[in-house]
Amino acid sequence: MKIKDLRVHSIAMADPPLRSSYGLHQPYALRTILEIESEEGVVGIAETYGGAEPAKALLAIRERLLGNSPLRALGLSRELLREDASGMARSQTTLVPGENPLDADARTYAALETACLDLAGKTWQVPLSDLLGGMVREKASFSAYPFYKHAGGGGEGEDSRKDEYGEALCPISLAEQAERMVGQYGFREIKLKAGVLEPEAEIETIRELRRRFGPGVPLRIDPNCAWSVDTSVKVGLALAEELSNGGYLEDPTSGLEGMSEVRKRLLAEGVDTPLASNVSVTSFGDLPEAVGLDAVQVVLCDHHYWGGFRQVQHLAKICETFGLGLSMHSNNHLGVSMMAMAQVAVATPHLTYACDTHYPWQTERDEVVAGGRVPIAGGVIEPGHAPGLGVELDPDRLAEASELYRSIPYRKRDDEAEMRKYVDPDWKRTLPRW
Ligand code: MG
Repeated sequence: MKIKDLRVHSIAMADPPLRSSYGLHQPYALRTILEIESEEGVVGIAETYGGAEPAKALLAIRERLLGNSPLRALGLSRELLREDASGMARSQTTLVPGENPLDADARTYAALETACLDLAGKTWQVPLSDLLGGMVREKASFSAYPFYKHAGGGGEGEDSRKDEYGEALCPISLAEQAERMVGQYGFREIKLKAGVLEPEAEIETIRELRRRFGPGVPLRIDPNCAWSVDTSVKVGLALAEELSNGGYLEDPTSGLEGMSEVRKRLLAEGVDTPLASNVSVTSFGDLPEAVGLDAVQVVLCDHHYWGGFRQVQHLAKICETFGLGLSMHSNNHLGVSMMAMAQVAVATPHLTYACDTHYPWQTERDEVVAGGRVPIAGGVIEPGHAPGLGVELDPDRLAEASELYRSIPYRKRDDEAEMRKYVDPDWKRTLPRW
């Protein structure tokens, strides 16, 4: 099982005009597909962040992998996991995930690990979850991920997609969007992307969700650091009941010290809503301070930038040891990432919340896996026992997505520029905004 070829495909997919505190999603999101082929002709695959840089980084390790077994290739690439920066230097407070040069090596390693383990699993005819220690559950739970958004389904001009969800820029339209999403996929937990409207309107949105879904559906809110400590405490107090029982308050403010202060002040008022983060804790080096300051009670992992599946499993063990919860962050992705997330989710014992996924925001038309989109039913994905990741690429779909990438001008994610282009020419991301 020696590697004889490594191929990298830059692809694009339509993305609706979703809002967050970073700005506005561009009409296309970019991804990279990696293929690693063995001398026996078996192909392992991975999906990661897109644009020029991730593709270049994967091509840069090509020569050293050729002729090695996929598992040996991982050993030879371990230096990509070194951590020489953590804390605010590495955090995603100011940079969107996938655009942070400080975790670029971890992202490269993660893609390599995914493709190598997929290749090994397909060669040995075992599911990837077996290579991660074996399944501890059959189903991976995901949560609905409603966003405030403008009208439009993504894409541009003749390539525009149908707008499945419509505009949602107020509590009622957002709740309707969530109902539609839950109706279609059966999600049993809901996470609201916030940091877009005035905090009062976002509090009202959570209350509207609670009215419609009842207390049996846990609710979460993630304003991506848009709030000051005072505003975070105000929202935390206002939503004490709605965010209890399986909910959390995610990255309300920037930095571990700010998070710690929010936690202290909420506890002093008798509110123990956990604080979650995928912004202030993005690497192992962030954990000592996060734990020491009691700044974060739920870490949102992401195998794409934490350095792969086994790093996520190490993280899970640390979280369990220190009494932290663990869930999973997501960015726009297609079916290869979807299955990768599901495989690690079913093989990681300490995973305490339904994981995030942007998958409902993408459509069948942009999917690159053979047989079409990975099904989510009842809010879960069952990765099953098929070899490796459990999905293959559709070469025609991959060629179309690559052609789409070549035909569009976007080469990196820039939500701020998009916001200035379509919403407010003077818009700047300021933290805290409220
Ligand atoms: Mg987040």
